[in-house]
This record gives sequence, C-alpha cells and structure tokens, in this order.
Amino acid sequence: MIKMIFACTRILAYHSIHPTRLDTLALHPDEFYRQMKWLASLGWQGVSLAEYVRLTSQPNGESLKIFAVTFDDGYADNLKYALPVLKEFNFNATIFVVVDRIGTDIIHETKWLSLYPNVSRSDYRYLNWNEVNELLDAGMEIGAHTCTHVLLDEVNYQTRFAEIADCRTKLEQTIVVPIVSFCYPKGQYNKQTLEIVKASGYNQAVVTPNKIKRFKQPDVYQLRRIGVYHNDNLFRFRLKCLPVFDMIRMLRSYHSILEL
Ligand SMILES: [Zn+2]
Repeated sequence: MIKMIFACTRILAYHSIHPTRLDTLALHPDEFYRQMKWLASLGWQGVSLAEYVRLTSQPNGESLKIFAVTFDDGYADNLKYALPVLKEFNFNATIFVVVDRIGTDIIHETKWLSLYPNVSRSDYRYLNWNEVNELLDAGMEIGAHTCTHVLLDEVNYQTRFAEIADCRTKLEQTIVVPIVSFCYPKGQYNKQTLEIVKASGYNQAVVTPNKIKRFKQPDVYQLRRIGVYHNDNLFRFRLKCLPVFDMIRMLRSYHSILEL
C-alpha cells in the first residue's frame, strides 16, 4: 500500500467540462476528449477511484495501466459533456457531489457571474437526483464532497462530523449504493478530519492537488491528484502526466507539511 502512495500520481482531478464556461475550473469538452483519447491510445484504462484503489492495492497492481478520473462538485455538465467521452473509450470515473447542492443552482464562486457575463447561471448548474442516477446507471461512481462544501478547517468538530458523515448517509439513503470515496473541499483537512472520514465508513479520500500536508505516513485517505484546469491543452496535460512533474508537485507540497 505504501508503495502505491509513493508511486507516480495517476488520479486526475477535473471539475466542469463545458463548451462556454471560461473560469479556471472548466475545461472545454474537445480538450477533455483529446486527453482521454491520448491516454486510451497509449493503452491506459480510466477507472473510478474505488476501482483504482482496489486494483492498485493488489500484488503487481502498480504495473497496471490504469488511472482514476475524478470530478469535483457535481456539475450537471459532467453528465452532458464528460460522460459521452468516457463511454466512447469505455472509461469509468468518480463524481464527488455536494449533497445539499444536488438539484440547485447555487454558484460556487459568485464572482464568475460578473467576470463572464456571456455565461448564464444555468451553465453552473449542479446535477439533480435523476442525473445522479443516470451516472450511476452508466457505471460511474458517486463520491462524497460534504453536505454544503464547507471548509472543514474552519468549523467546529460537531459541524465537521455532520458534514462528512451526513453526506454519506443522505447519498446512500437516496441512491441506495455504498458511498466509499470522499473528497476534502479545497483540500482542507487535519488529523481529526482524517479520523472522522475513516470512522464515517469511507474507504479512501482524495486531496486537492498540492494540498497534501504530510508524506511521512501516507495512506489512502490522502491520495494526491493531478489537477486539470481551463488552460490545460493536450500539450500541458501530457507534461502534467509525466512522473518528473509529479515529483515537482510532491516537493512543492513539502513546504506545507504539518505535524498532524
Ligand atoms: Zn469542491
């Protein structure tokens, strides 16, 4: 297991896949297609986070040509624009949803509305429950990203516990599948948060790229990811996937090591 964590990161982190959104979290569907096509052409298989952890934990799992595809926040465009691409290449993925935002049009960053006036409010829409079920039916994994996207370092223990545990409970009661993967909003976590995530029944958790706080005792509750953003064309994406860039990300993260 430890060997797996120290190996090159093969977990991709996306947010929105959208043709007209211009904010940093949104990648154009054509770019997403090129990235998946490139990985498929090299013989790599895209899988959900749960599958990734299960497969890479097995003997010789590190030699498998698999990578995990993850999406944060649960934007409706994941179904409309990302899923058709994933299905074309027979890939799976994990979508981390904020359970109290499902079916709402709350905007994560309100500044986007004024910065990008040509994009309508509905372009930032979150998945509704029917759409979550469509993703499930298509073989995708649904993961938890708290109830309200609260920053976990900034709330008391009780609230933190509720945000993490209730998210899983609400999802499991509504879509009736086990929820085993968790994602920390904006990568905020500490030792106590890790313990809550473990105690709440999650099997693994991912961190926002470059937010890893400690490597001395790596585990599946602090999995690093490669973040893919608006300006990541195929050239930049290929660079980001190189092991040398993973090393650079790791070294950068050492600056924020905390004694948990
Ligand atoms: Zn998020």
